[in-house]
Amino acid sequence: MNKRKELYRGKAKSVYLTDDKDLLILHFRNDTSAFDGKKIEQLDKKGMVNNKFNAFIMEKLEAAGIPTHFKSILNDQESVVLALEMFPVECVVRNIAAGSICKRLGIEEGIDLDPPTFEFFLKDDARGDPMINEYHINSFGWAGPEHVVIMKELSFAVNNVLKALFREGNMLLVDYKLEFGLHNGEVVLGDEFTPDGCRLWDVDTREKLDKDRFRQDLGDVVESYQLVGKRLGLNIN
Ligand code: ADP
Ligand code: UDP
Repeated sequence: MNKRKELYRGKAKSVYLTDDKDLLILHFRNDTSAFDGKKIEQLDKKGMVNNKFNAFIMEKLEAAGIPTHFKSILNDQESVVLALEMFPVECVVRNIAAGSICKRLGIEEGIDLDPPTFEFFLKDDARGDPMINEYHINSFGWAGPEHVVIMKELSFAVNNVLKALFREGNMLLVDYKLEFGLHNGEVVLGDEFTPDGCRLWDVDTREKLDKDRFRQDLGDVVESYQLVGKRLGLNIN
């Protein structure tokens, strides 16, 4: 399989075509962005750490029966994935209130959400990724009603697998964002699962171990991602 031209350059990853129409190469860059791309920095080793972290998580999900796009690691910063026709929506699951839900609803950070809650957002940086509902998705044709059902089911299935996994490493999975796409009519988990797209807190101290360290200028961003890996038994250096 050979790498061909760049198909898309996002805020943190680049996507390359390959000579196999079913496969793409995902390149995890060191670019780190927040606030819809308004804050951007280069963090040494972040691409490598996220690439390896993502591979580890995707393999766990696949083993648990969740269809993912992940195929294999190609090198430090690149992985081979199944080419998906992405839905332009983000699926967010929340176990504990943090981030935008606190601002939007005036909720105190740290409150348990029982049962966990779910939100859809439109992938549209220019409009600040607005929150949308299922009716919007259906009316505007961003995904079919049958796909919406599966995206929600798979998002909660991911929660069951990963809440337990992170708990073993003494971490709370506060919230996370997933993206899905279609491959031959099947809804498949795409994009990434890394500390860039989720919130993870230490169980005892509630110290933030995820991208909030970057958003809130807490320092040691990549070191913290490596620590999360280490707590899961993964040494990423
Ligand atoms: P953004 O587009 O939000 O800036 P990234 O920098 O992470 O995000 O760019 C990666 C892009 O690749 C995203 O738009 C994502 O939807 C897309 N993508 C992820 N996985 C796949 C896949 N398997 N097939 C096609 N596109 C994908
Ligand atoms: N998230 C993401 N990309 C986005 C928006 C959110 O990865 O474009 C993740 C974010 O890291 C967090 C969860 O989704 O783990 C919920 O984010 P929230 O809605 O609270 O937005 P934030 O305040 O983090 O921008």
